[in-house]
Amino acid sequence: MQIIAAGSKPSRPGAADCFTGQVRLDPLFNSFDQARVQGAYVTFEPGARTAWHTHPLGQTLIVTAGCGRVQLWGEPIQTIRPGDVVWIEPGEKHWHGAGPDTAMTHMAIHEMLDGKAVEWLEHVSDEQYLRA
Ligand code: MN
Repeated sequence: MQIIAAGSKPSRPGAADCFTGQVRLDPLFNSFDQARVQGAYVTFEPGARTAWHTHPLGQTLIVTAGCGRVQLWGEPIQTIRPGDVVWIEPGEKHWHGAGPDTAMTHMAIHEMLDGKAVEWLEHVSDEQYLRA
């Protein structure tokens, strides 16, 4: 057993080639260690979002604060709020992030396949993001 003490893992900014705007990652468990499942809080400031991406084994998002957005490729943008749980199927092209005027925090949980939990694609343009 291991108790991972609150505050023992440093926050870090989201990488600019994977995110637009200001994003903070707070690792919770197995942040790129040996086990297959990983969990982290991700906090998006207003207007911030991931790039388009896919997950080889899917992803669960649990919204914990604010009001945000999620979109599958070719489908309308959807609003997500605290308590909403979003399941992204393996291979589904999507993005998630804040609203234009509202921050959003979610817990993200995903499994790694061959050492990879995400395949990053192109950024979400302002035109795509604002087409609500
Ligand atoms: Mn995702």
